[in-house]
Amino acid sequence: MWLPLSLVFFLLPILQALAQDGSISGATSSSAAAGYSCDASKCKLPNCNCASTSPPGGLNASEVPMFVVFTADDAVQSYTIDAVNQFLGHRQNPNGCAPKMTYFTSLNFTNYTLVTDWFVAGNEIADHTMTHVGTPPKGEIDGNIIALNALAGIPLKSIIGFRAPFLNFSVDTLKLLVAAGFTYDSSAPAATPVTDPDTDAFWPYTLDFGLANDCLALDNACKGQPVLPGFWEIPMYAFFDERGAVGPHLMDPWLDAANGATTVNDSATLEYMKATFMAHYNGNRQPIGLYTHPIHLSTTYPGVNPSNSTINMINQFLDWAQVQPNVWIVSNEQLLAWVQNPVPVSQLDSVAALKCSTPQIDASMKICNGIPQNENGLLNLCSFSDFPFYTCYGCPESEPTVDNPNPAQQVPDGGQARSRVPTNCSTAFWDPIAAKCLCTSNDCAFTDNSRAIGPNGANLTGGGTGGAPGASASPTTYVPFNGKAVALPTGVWAATFVGVLGALVGLVGLL
Ligand SMILES: [Zn+2]
Repeated sequence: MWLPLSLVFFLLPILQALAQDGSISGATSSSAAAGYSCDASKCKLPNCNCASTSPPGGLNASEVPMFVVFTADDAVQSYTIDAVNQFLGHRQNPNGCAPKMTYFTSLNFTNYTLVTDWFVAGNEIADHTMTHVGTPPKGEIDGNIIALNALAGIPLKSIIGFRAPFLNFSVDTLKLLVAAGFTYDSSAPAATPVTDPDTDAFWPYTLDFGLANDCLALDNACKGQPVLPGFWEIPMYAFFDERGAVGPHLMDPWLDAANGATTVNDSATLEYMKATFMAHYNGNRQPIGLYTHPIHLSTTYPGVNPSNSTINMINQFLDWAQVQPNVWIVSNEQLLAWVQNPVPVSQLDSVAALKCSTPQIDASMKICNGIPQNENGLLNLCSFSDFPFYTCYGCPESEPTVDNPNPAQQVPDGGQARSRVPTNCSTAFWDPIAAKCLCTSNDCAFTDNSRAIGPNGANLTGGGTGGAPGASASPTTYVPFNGKAVALPTGVWAATFVGVLGALVGLVGLL
């Protein structure tokens, strides 16, 4: 697809920076460094789980589903959604539902309306800082929640997970996550094979007795620290090539050369991915993860030319994995829901988190609610020069920043402010133009939580129209939005708009 040079110029440096995002070269823990001990008689599900290679709840491995966690990191764009869809869009889990995944979203270059769509389609939206910084300060973490709530309509309580850019985090990062009301972090590698007696491939665990992964890389962690009761670590499970422990591949394994070679060989990658999967599957069924930077697999992004062989290889791996009994492709949120209340495979029908979740909205309703076919003509275009984006919820006067993640709304002449998703209505049922909730039954009733992410730790509740915390200007009368005040900047938009449309068309298939 053609893109104007100006846009390419802005995006390429980001792409290059991300190529180094999250690589490891060897073990990141040892049992001596971990110095971990946990009292299983005091640490019980659902709110406490000891770091263990054994399945949760005392289940035998044969009764345990094999979870393949699929995640994506960084900006959400049409290119990245397309890239993910080429692996997941055509698949089903054993219960016939579409697989879901976790998108660790950073906000520079993110098109907010695609975040809304992706969330309403059932995927998990998680925090990856506003501007993609490692060992992030509080504002980078909290501001991401605030901006995603305001401009993508993601309920505050739905953003439960975090991954540190470059996987660079500290004990303080984990404490900031707890203070902001997160449920889990997923930044710590498990980088010793499950077949090694010293493996650190633990099932997700709480930090009641400290961290047990990443002990060689992290200061003041492990040996019982930090104590963060009820806060989960979902380890990132590495694949290992023929060299075993000295050949780990964590994120985007398909970008690495296998077995110490100097060039990428997709067949070799496929072989070791299968071998690592089987080691998990035939052992204690610890999850395995496909941790992607989907931009590297985009077939429409300027400057990126993934080989068809690589794309086919990843699909071959998933095809092969899905043939094995009891294999589920899931988001971190789904994995965690099962770990907290583990049931044998024969009872998976009872697990709400694994069910299909297409919202039941009257097809004749034309509202801006994250369902692409409802949104024709209703999206706001926010034409900021470095990266324009669309949203259902009214453009901010300036781009969200760490200092001001929820700027006042820019209301077009003759138009009316849009109302952000409030605390008593879920995204798919909220009409931001009429400021009205379409849900009238208990089946779709929703209550958001507040979070202590305001200035000086004040609780924020979402809703309103943007601007200072607590500002609320929900209109009481309905005035149709005419959209005519939004003009396309010359040049930049023609091509990008095509990309957005492409993603929307792709999403229709998913729903
Ligand atoms: Zn990243």
